[in-house]
Amino acid sequence: MSSGFPIDLHTHSLRSDGAYSPEALVARAAQRGVHVQALSDHDTLSGVAEAMAAGSRLGVRIIPATELNTESEWGDVHILGYFLDPADAALEDRLRWLREHRGRRIELMVEKLNALGYAVSLERVLEIAQGGSLGRPHLAQALFEAGHVPTYDAAFDTLINKSSPAYVSRVGLTPVEAVRLVVEHGGVPSLAHPGTAFDLPMLVPLLVAAGLAGIEAYYGVHSPSDTAAFLRLAITHGLVPTGGSDFHGRGEHGAELGGLFVPPESIGALEARRPMASAASI
Ligand code: AMP
Ligand code: FE
Ligand code: FE
Ligand code: ZN
Repeated sequence: MSSGFPIDLHTHSLRSDGAYSPEALVARAAQRGVHVQALSDHDTLSGVAEAMAAGSRLGVRIIPATELNTESEWGDVHILGYFLDPADAALEDRLRWLREHRGRRIELMVEKLNALGYAVSLERVLEIAQGGSLGRPHLAQALFEAGHVPTYDAAFDTLINKSSPAYVSRVGLTPVEAVRLVVEHGGVPSLAHPGTAFDLPMLVPLLVAAGLAGIEAYYGVHSPSDTAAFLRLAITHGLVPTGGSDFHGRGEHGAELGGLFVPPESIGALEARRPMASAASI
């Protein structure tokens, strides 16, 4: 099993809403010919040590990362933070706060679903998550298992999307706060799957002013003209074009591990954007 591309800067494990353990995820990436992989679990760096151990055995360089989903009028704005330090206690405090809010939000969504007649138990959702940062994908899987929807994807489309009565908005960071958090902790922020944000011509300059360094131009569901538009934005704002599969292991987001071209020079360009104060060798 090999794939075309050696770099994947966006992947998720069981430490958040992915289906594979960090070790199994890295093993799968290695099998597919990936040599550089960012583990970008939502609001946690807890899988990085396990991924690095597997990576050093299997010849995969692991870049420690996280993905911060934000709440604002700008739509789905997710910020990837690269080169963060799993031993940074102050960062971990902030990430724990975000994870606690994730948990409460899912609890509230379970209550709403039950009130609407879609019986689903919080216990089962927690079992599915196996201790990872809770998110709607765990809820989607529980709804699918309970037979309330015909497919996993249908749970998103019909029951837990923003326009559904079971939806609960996030308590968390705004896009600018997420970018600042990454920069303050010595990391390098990139705007994930920019096609899900609203009004990029207005949003991107605000994020750049806060320290945004990259934009995920290469992404599974982007058309060639989408990618070209995001590359133009990158040039206009001096951003590093990044890319990744956003692999979770359930067939979503249109790409396998290592399934996307990512320019090899993006790694060095991201490293060059690390704030000097903490440019240790992670
Ligand atoms: P949450 O952070 O709990 O709001 O969940 C958002 C996550 O759900 C995203 O990071 C994606 O991994 C996943 N997701 C969002 N929309 C969909 C969808 N339509 N199909 C599959 N996964 C989705
Ligand atoms: Fe996710
Ligand atoms: Fe995302
Ligand atoms: Zn993601």
